Amino acid sequence: MLPRGAGIAGLTLAIALGRCEDPVSPIEIDMYESGTEITTVGAGISVWPRTWAIMRRLGLYDELMQEAVKSKGETKKDQDEGSEHQAGPAFVFRKSDWPREGFEFGRVMVPDGATTMHRADMVRVLVRHLPARCTIHTSKRLVSYDPPPPSSPNDTHTLHFADGTHATADVVIGADGIKSAVRSSMYAHTHVQECESGDDTPVAACARCARSRPKWTGTVAYRYLIPTERLRAVNPAHHALHVAAPMSLADFARQHIITYLISHGKYLNWIGFVTRPGQEGTEYPHKWVLDANRDDVVREFAGWEPEVDQMIACVEDPTLWAIHVIDDLPFSVSGRVALMGDAVHAMTTHFGAGGGQAIEDAYLLGTLLTDPRTSPPRLPRVLEIYQAVRLPFARAVVRNARAVGLMYEFNSPGLYAADPARGEPTAVGVRSEEVTAAAADGDGDGLKRRLGELERAIRGMWQWQWKEKVEEQWAEAERMMDELGSRTAPRRRRQAERWCVVA
Ligand code: FAD
Repeated sequence: MLPRGAGIAGLTLAIALGRCEDPVSPIEIDMYESGTEITTVGAGISVWPRTWAIMRRLGLYDELMQEAVKSKGETKKDQDEGSEHQAGPAFVFRKSDWPREGFEFGRVMVPDGATTMHRADMVRVLVRHLPARCTIHTSKRLVSYDPPPPSSPNDTHTLHFADGTHATADVVIGADGIKSAVRSSMYAHTHVQECESGDDTPVAACARCARSRPKWTGTVAYRYLIPTERLRAVNPAHHALHVAAPMSLADFARQHIITYLISHGKYLNWIGFVTRPGQEGTEYPHKWVLDANRDDVVREFAGWEPEVDQMIACVEDPTLWAIHVIDDLPFSVSGRVALMGDAVHAMTTHFGAGGGQAIEDAYLLGTLLTDPRTSPPRLPRVLEIYQAVRLPFARAVVRNARAVGLMYEFNSPGLYAADPARGEPTAVGVRSEEVTAAAADGDGDGLKRRLGELERAIRGMWQWQWKEKVEEQWAEAERMMDELGSRTAPRRRRQAERWCVVA
C-alpha cells in the first residue's frame, strides 16, 4: 500500500495550534492534503520518551497509550546518577547472520522502555483531536507557492495546486514530507533572491540550495506486517513474539531486520534493511516506494538463522522503500513560510525518531505561533526562533541516526571494520572477520565480549532519547521569545487571518 493521507507533523501542528486557541482572534487553519483521505501507510511506529512528554502536554497521552505495546520493565541502577529506576528495553540486538541459532548480544535500556503502535491508530487519535477551526482539503496536491511581492501592502501568499486551483494564506507551513513542494518552492524563491548565481544556475547546481534535495542513503527497506497468529503457528517460542521490545537482527553483510509488536500484539512490524555498498548519495533508479514480493526478501536474507526464515515464510506482499534523507538543510524558514517534519529532516530509521522529531517541530511551532507575544509583524522573527531551536538539533539526530545504523550492520569505522576484501577502509577496532573466526572456533564467550563493545557504543548513541530533555528546547525558545518583547504585548492578528498547513 502506498502512502496517502495527512502526515503526523501536520496533524500534530493543527492540534497544538487549536490547543492555544485565542477566542478574540482565532486562527483559521486550512490543511491541504494531496491524498484522497486522511489515512496512513500500514506499518508500525516506535515512540520514545521525548514524544510522550509532548503527548502529555497535548492531552493525548492516555488515548495513545491505550493503543501502544509497551516493553516489559525491569529495575535498573543508573550508573551516572546512582539512582534506581524502572527501565525497559528499547532495542534488543541479536546476531543472526548464520544458519545456526542466533543469540542476543545486547540491550539498550531506557526509562519506561519502548512503546510501539500501529500508525493508523496514532493517526486516528490525532484526527479525533483536530480543532474545529481546522478545515481539511483532500485531493489538493500543492505544486508551488508565491510569496507576496515586496511592494505588496498585505502578507498574502498564493498557493498553486495540481488541479489548477489556487488559494491564499498569511502563513504557510510545509509539512509535506520528504518530497516537499513547499521546500522546493522556498528554495527556488530564495535561490533567485539571495544566491549570486541565482538567475543563471538551477538550485541543483548551487552549493547552498542543492542541500535541500533528498539524498538516497544506498539502503532499501522491505516492510510488512506479519500476523502474529501466523508466526505463532510456525514457532510459538519465536523470540520476536516474546521479547516485547523492538529487536534488531543483524549481519556483517550490510543487512539488518527490525521487528516489533503492534496492535496489542496482533501484528509483528517487520522491516528488512539492505544496504547497497557504494550507493549512498547516488540517484535511486526506481520509484521510491514499490510493491515487492517474498522471493525478493528470501533472496536478500538467505542463509540467516532459522527464526529469520520462519518470519520470512510469513511475509507475503511487502513494499520496498528506498530510504532517502534530507541531512543538511541550510534553513527551514523564509519570511512567513516554515517547513517541518520530514520536509526538513527526513532521516534514516535507525533511532525510530523521524516521527518523534516531526512531533517536536509541530509542538514547538504551534506553541510559538499561538504565544501572546506573537503578532503579525513579529511572525518572521518567531519562525526564526523555531528554526534556531529545532534545525541544528534535528540535523544532529539525522547525522547520528546514520552513524548508529552503521553500527547495527557491524560496519562502523573505528568499531567494526568494513570488509577489506571489498577494498573498504580497515577499521581500528574489532574486525568482523575476527569475530566470525572466534565464533567458528567455538569461542562463544570471546565473541560475546567483543559484541559487548558494540552494544555499549550503540547504547551511548541512544542516550539522547531520554537524557536530553525536550523541555530544554522549550526553555531556550522561551528565552528567545522574552528577548522579542513584553509578555503583555497586544495581539494584533487580523480577524480573518488564514494559516495554511500543507500536509
Ligand atoms: P509524512 O508522513 O511524509 O506526511 C506528509 C504528508 O504530506 C502526507 O500525508 C502526504 O500525502 C502529504 N503531501 C506530500 N506532498 C504533498 C503536496 N505536494 N501537497 C499536499 N500534500 C502533500 N519515525 C518514528 O518516529 N518512529 C519509527 O519507528 C519510524 N519508523 C520508520 C520506518 C520506516 C521504514 C520509515 C521509512 C520511516 C520511519 N519513521 C519512523 C519516520 C517517520 O515515518 C517519518 O519521519 C514521519 O512519518 C514524518 O512525518 P511527516 O508528517 O513529516 O511526513
